[in-house]
Amino acid sequence: MATDQQPAAPPAIESPWPAPNGIWASYDLHCHCGSVRYSMKISPPLFEDQTEGKEQYTAIECHCSHCERQGALCVHPLVENIQWTQGLEHRGTYLCASKKNPHFYCKNCGCFLASDLTWLTENVMKGENRMTINLRMLKDVDLSKLKIRQQYFMKNIPPKYEV
Ligand SMILES: [Zn+2]
Ligand SMILES: [Zn+2]
Repeated sequence: MATDQQPAAPPAIESPWPAPNGIWASYDLHCHCGSVRYSMKISPPLFEDQTEGKEQYTAIECHCSHCERQGALCVHPLVENIQWTQGLEHRGTYLCASKKNPHFYCKNCGCFLASDLTWLTENVMKGENRMTINLRMLKDVDLSKLKIRQQYFMKNIPPKYEV
């Protein structure tokens, strides 16, 4: 059927993280072997039964070159709301691309745990310092209860991924 509708405009780049909505929740996380343990406090909560009727956090399936290979599901709490509670000596650091936002993994089992976005949030986004946390490390993980959206814009941020 003929139509004179304009093609859809490209979607605006949404903030990778929602604004806090006053309802906070805390979560424990650990790698597959349990050597590295950490916790975070975040708002809105990740699960609907914790939101007290308000909105649920929308996590991101990030399509940057690193997250695509790791299969990471990401949220971005403030750095001050993350505690590394056990096994820091087992935490390794991987630097890629700009080499300014270290990715952390477990040196024993290889799980991708988190990325420190301090350089990015301080110098590029000019906001509060944040980390990427990989929700696949949640202690009581039930991926079916997460709200997730796809995020592609990181894929196009330079430098272009090449190995
Ligand atoms: Zn481990
Ligand atoms: Zn990513």
